[in-house]
Formats: sequence, structure tokens, C-alpha cells
Amino acid sequence: MTHPYRFTIGGAQVSGEQTFDVVNPSTGEVFAQAPAATAAHVDAAFDAAQRAFPAWAADAAARRKALHAVADATEAAVDEVAHVLSLENGKPFTDSQWEIKAAAAWFRYYADFELAPEEIVQDGYRATVFRRPLGVVAAIKPWNTPLIQFAWPVAPALRAGNTIVLKPSPFTPLSTLLLAERVAGAAPAGVINVVAGPDPLGAALTGHPVPRKVSFTGSTATGRKVAQAAAADLKRFTLELGGNDAALVLPDADIATVAPGVFWAAFMNNGQICGAVKRVYVHESRQAELVEALADIARSVKIGEPWDEGVQLGPVSTRPQFERVTSLLSDALANGARAASGGAPLDRPGFFLPPTILDHVDDGLAIVDEEQFGPVLPVVSYQTVDDAVARANNSPYGLDASVWGADTELATRVATRLEAGVVTVNQHSFGARPDLPYGGHKASGFGVENGHWGIEEYTQIQAIGNPEAAPRPSSD
Ligand code: NAD
Repeated sequence: MTHPYRFTIGGAQVSGEQTFDVVNPSTGEVFAQAPAATAAHVDAAFDAAQRAFPAWAADAAARRKALHAVADATEAAVDEVAHVLSLENGKPFTDSQWEIKAAAAWFRYYADFELAPEEIVQDGYRATVFRRPLGVVAAIKPWNTPLIQFAWPVAPALRAGNTIVLKPSPFTPLSTLLLAERVAGAAPAGVINVVAGPDPLGAALTGHPVPRKVSFTGSTATGRKVAQAAAADLKRFTLELGGNDAALVLPDADIATVAPGVFWAAFMNNGQICGAVKRVYVHESRQAELVEALADIARSVKIGEPWDEGVQLGPVSTRPQFERVTSLLSDALANGARAASGGAPLDRPGFFLPPTILDHVDDGLAIVDEEQFGPVLPVVSYQTVDDAVARANNSPYGLDASVWGADTELATRVATRLEAGVVTVNQHSFGARPDLPYGGHKASGFGVENGHWGIEEYTQIQAIGNPEAAPRPSSD
């Protein structure tokens, strides 16, 4: 890699004096160096964001224009950034292209978003309720979808008038650094700042006195630390955390149509999606049929490096994640699970684990109870729908869930009983929709992203009242 990856701070490209290794998961080898931010870089980034804030907050028309320009610059950089994303994350090149186009769509959506004040006139009082920006936002993001994770906070935060300092995961820093460089000219200096580095850099951001809000996406364990750090000076925070999403397959489901839907909801991005299906509950009368249909698909999937012709799944994205998933899998197999497909890493360099469908599994096994975040899907049988609902809900998490069945009215009634932020019928999750709310119940999150719900989380309310301007009550 010859590109000199640098931070974006105050509109300039800033080199790091220190660097850290970035690994290509397709080979398991270090392929590039990323700059590692020091405390001085963090201070400089927050300082730049703070200085840019007043002018940026004051001009909504300029913000809309700039967000369109950011979308244009993102679209222009799709192939270049996708190449780097595939190298550091391992996902197929076409998936990387899709991800960066989705990021551009988020910028476009919020560029056009109407954030109008509300006028309230009642009882002799007139008030205008404004949504004011918070100030500087700190954003800390994971490695599974780094560019979507870049756009989700940047687009609404900027549209609402905030400025931002964002830190990508140390496993996938390069694609975010590169995209930030490519969009830097589209917004005024200091509006978008990106630093990178191994932890404890994340804690340096959450503990910094300047940001008024932290937008965090990552594991529930780290989310708790972010909430604790933010509490010290009452920063606001949004937490998008882990999930152990259940798919419930009802007795009347048409397995031939359900199987591909459930399969790709579980294995897209190798299962490394917070809202991926992580466990399936299927009626005992249909379990064998579903397991066979899922395993058939698994065996037909083309696994390989991001640029291989027709590749559908790449390696697991990081070494720790690969070790965690393979250890959960070994534990399940040692405790009686059967792999109907896959079951062991591929005998080749890199972190390749083929899509693995497990049966002979039950609640109580770690692979069912914990968020595995990888290409393994336990298929658990149930006897009654009530039992399936209770078991799906018996989790600390509540991110996505789905119900699959021929009688969609019945499936929708079951959906309303599930404890999750998004529950869908005959599909899993909404897909990439900037206009629909996304946020977890229970330990899966705090706050919501996307749509008007998401942008409101980057604002504070200011009500301006004027009793003189209100119509007076009549004297009689
Ligand atoms: P992680 O919690 O290990 O790291 C997330 C980010 O936090 C990284 O940038 C990391 O450097 C930083 N960090 C680490 N310690 C920190 C600290 N003490 N203070 C502040 N920041 C710190 O998570 P990960 O392994 O990168 O990502 C996988 C997890 O993310 C999974 O649990 C997945 O479900 C979750 N996730 C959730 C969503 C969602 O929208 N709910 C989306 C994607 C991923």
C-alpha cells in the first residue's frame, strides 16, 4: 500500500508520528500501517471541531449544500475506498461498493431532511420549539461495516449543525481515513475530523471535555464503559450495541422460500452484522426440512478473497473474532451439536470459516445464548409458539427479530410479542433504510438512529416563548 494514510484534522491531512499494523484477514498478514493518534492529535481534532462549530451551526443552507457535496465525493470515491475496505475487512469487493453507496445515500437523505421548528399557540401563549445542535460530537465505531458506521453519525450530526470527531475501529481504520480525506473539501475545515489508533484512544475521546455527545457503536461491554465515562460530565450518548437476534419460523412456513431469506439474514457479511439472525427457533415438525434447506444453501456459497469471481463470503474480519467464533463452535460440537454444513475452518491462510448450520442444539449452549457475530447459525426446535416467544425473549439483548410464516396476520401478532427494536415479518430487519428507526431494546442499545428519531438525538430543544405575540383570551 503506497497511500500515506493520515488523519483529517481541521481540513488538513495530518500524519501520525507513530503507526500500528493493519491485517488483511484474507491472508492473516499485516499489509499496511495506519497512523496512531496521540493525545495532541485528539486535542487538535476537538479544537478544530469546536472552532468550526459556530459558523456551521448558524447556516442550515450551507449545511445542506455541504452534505450533498459529501455525498457526491463519497460516490466519486466508491471503487477506491471499496478496494481498501475489502483489503482490511475481507468482505467481497461488491459488498464494499454497496456499503459505500449506502453511506452516500445517508448523506443525501439527511442533506434533504427538513428539521423545522414547531409552533405552539395555546392558552394565551406562543412558543416556538427549535431543535438546536449540541456542539461537538465524538463518534466511536466498529469494524464490521466501517463506512456505514461513518455515515450514520456524520450525516444527521452535521445536518443538525454539530461538528464531529470520529474514530474508526483499529481493525479497519484505513477505509475511513481514506473516505474522510476524499470528502474533506466538501465541508468547511474542522466540521469532519477523523483520528485513528489502537485503544485506549476510544476512552480518550469519551473522556475529553469538549464533546457534548458520544455516538457509540460496538459491543455491549464497551458500551457500558462509554456510558460510565459520559456520565462524568453528563455528555449525551447513543449506544448501538450487540444483539442475539432470533428468527421464529412458524409451523405453517413455506421452507423453500423462508430458507434463503433466513440464510442471508444470518450470513450476510459473514454474520458480522449487529442485527444478523444469530439463532433460529423452528417448530419441531419443520426442523429437519429447514436445516437441510439451509445447509444446501451453505454448501453452494462461494467463499474466497474479495476479488474472486462470483465470491459471496470472505473471511471472518479479525483474528480475535475468528478465534471467538471457532471457540464457540468447538464448544457447541463438544456438547452434542451437529454441523449440517461447514463446522471447521478452511485449510488455507486467513480467517476462513464456511457457513455453518448447527442442529442438535438448545438454549443453554453458549453458541445459542451469546452473540457469536460470525458465520455459525444454531437452529433450535420448539413445540409451541408461546414457548418459542418466551425463549426468543429470554436474552439480555433485543436488537432485531423476525417471524416467518404463511399466515402473515398470525406472524404479525407473534411479532408484537417479541422484545426487540425492529421486528419484521418474512424478512429480517429493514435493510439499508435511512428513514426508518434503528435502535436496540434492553442491553442492545440506548437511543435510536435514522429518520427523524435519529437526527433528534443530535439536538437539544430550545423553546422561545412570547406571551405578547399570542392571541389574547377574549374578555367575555
Ligand atoms: P468493540 O466494543 O470492541 O469496539 C467498538 C469501538 O469501541 C472500537 O472503535 C474500539 O476501538 C472502541 N473502544 C474500545 N474500548 C473503548 C473504551 N473503553 N471507550 C471507548 N471506546 C472504546 O466492538 P467491535 O468488536 O469493534 O464491534 C463488534 C460489536 O459491535 C458487536 O457486539 C456488534 O453487535 C456491535 N455492533 C452493533 C451495531 C448496532 O447498530 N447495534 C452495529 C455494528 C456492530
